[in-house]
Amino acid sequence: MSEASERLAAVRSEIARAARLAQRSPDDIELIAVSKGRDASQIEPLIAAGQRAFGENRLQEAQAKWGGQELRGLAPNLRLHFIGRLQSNKAIEATRLFDAIHSVDRPSLVDALARAMADTGRTPDCFIQVNVGAEAQKGGCPVDELPGLLDRAQGAGLRIAGLMCLPPADVEAAPYFALLAKLARRHDVTGLSMGMSNDFATAVMIGATHLRIGTALFADPDQAP
Ligand SMILES: *Cc1c(COP(=O)(O)O)cnc(C)c1O
Repeated sequence: MSEASERLAAVRSEIARAARLAQRSPDDIELIAVSKGRDASQIEPLIAAGQRAFGENRLQEAQAKWGGQELRGLAPNLRLHFIGRLQSNKAIEATRLFDAIHSVDRPSLVDALARAMADTGRTPDCFIQVNVGAEAQKGGCPVDELPGLLDRAQGAGLRIAGLMCLPPADVEAAPYFALLAKLARRHDVTGLSMGMSNDFATAVMIGATHLRIGTALFADPDQAP
């Protein structure tokens, strides 16, 4: 087995273990390999090992890596997730390249994405990012603005796949995951994009449907990119 397939197998078995504990099916949990900062030579072994969903947080970097055939040509059914901050004036380019956008967090972006979808004829899955820790430096809509933003997004015809969060660093993530899960239930949305290399098992137990995992798949887990 290649190192990439060993890491992938280890992460998948940890997901399965957490899912069993929570009496969930691992099939209901999508593993997104966060390939930001990794080049084609690092990504290719993961595709060879069967990974199909990838996440990027910078549009330009993603266009350079995934716009051509070098990686795209390796498998027909790759799915790209945008997980970074998105400027409204880049909505068209993002809509062209990505199958899902996890960082919809303000009315101006909702409107820009609605126009981009009309222009391109593409309808990526959208997640509303919620600033669960009320951190000034982070993206995400404030918890109390979520109902209004969801209404606007649904009214504009965006396909709302769920909610997304990036909890505060260096503290227990579980309460923030639980808050996101509660907000999703309250507003009747099904997807929960939460859980990264350090906390994905916890996220699975609290209901995550989309895990965004970088370090654990690409490198020695102790070495952040
Ligand atoms: C980098 C990143 C991740 C992955 O983080 P790891 O700790 O490397 O697994 C997940 N989500 C977002 C939004 C990121 O920017």
